[in-house]
Amino acid sequence: MKVVFSPEHARHEPQFFLVRGQPKPSAEQPERAERLHAAVSARGDQLLAPAGLGPGPRAAIHTPDYLRFLEEAWDAWQALGDSGGEIIANVHPARGHASYPRAIVGRAGWHMADTACPIGPGTFAAACAAADVAATGAELLLDGERQAYALCRPPGHHAYADMAGGFCFLNNAAIAAQQLRRAHQRVAILDVDVHHGNGTQGVFYERADVLTVSLHADPRDFYPFFWGHESERGAGAGLGYNLNLPLPIGTGDDDWLVALEQAFATIRAFAPGALVVALGLDAFEGDPLKALAITTPGFARIGGAIARLGLPTLLVQEGGYLAPELADNLVSFLEGFEGGR
Ligand code: ZN
Repeated sequence: MKVVFSPEHARHEPQFFLVRGQPKPSAEQPERAERLHAAVSARGDQLLAPAGLGPGPRAAIHTPDYLRFLEEAWDAWQALGDSGGEIIANVHPARGHASYPRAIVGRAGWHMADTACPIGPGTFAAACAAADVAATGAELLLDGERQAYALCRPPGHHAYADMAGGFCFLNNAAIAAQQLRRAHQRVAILDVDVHHGNGTQGVFYERADVLTVSLHADPRDFYPFFWGHESERGAGAGLGYNLNLPLPIGTGDDDWLVALEQAFATIRAFAPGALVVALGLDAFEGDPLKALAITTPGFARIGGAIARLGLPTLLVQEGGYLAPELADNLVSFLEGFEGGR
């Protein structure tokens, strides 16, 4: 397996995480990527640095206002004086009849869905590196590889075209899918993270050329709460090209894999030229943010099943937090995937 990785991820080191009204240390730590990197290194996977692809891939998904905000935000926040060590929005618009503000505090509220995406001095650089990792993974597939793993951090699937949220800033999987569209009329994204891929859904909601499918804990009870329901099927030209499979809290391997078969039926009917897997490992039974109960051997079953779709496949790292088994779960998935090829 070719693995794309950038040490630039470590420039994003979030501290703040608000849990039930209490500030806690963020779960989205650089150590996550370091452990996953160590695991693929120990497997003997071929490690590649991201190609310098410039701003094009991220600009193909994200709006100019949002990218400008991410780039300028830290300096503008510091210039306020008496500002905290990370940008955390404290005001949000009801977007329907709102106007775009000039002040950095207002722009933060416009572009940040929640308090789980604090921006520090190295956040933009790290997010751009993660986007490049994903785009480079897509380039490997375009060059003829049947599979590759983009070890992205920070993750991306909660990021909309113009909004950060849930540890995510740039939508790595969406960026990769858009790159793959250069060679394929249709691309599918399968999101197996425990959280609904709301940003990815939002990016492609009105498009028929990128199918978005997500298996996740029922959002009536779990983040991102407002999106991820079965009734969200796409809109306009995209109607019918978004599938949500919410699962009850505590769902284990067998029932999860039944839902995966339902996802596969939709993907096969769509007949994509390539598949992007938004590979969260936080559906693990022991994950700090757990809601589902996938076991370590369960990840091998999931990987094997996805491989048997027989599609050129880019694996894009999403969530999965600092449980002792984090790296074991990645290795289990990869071994299952390779065994299914
Ligand atoms: Zn997640």
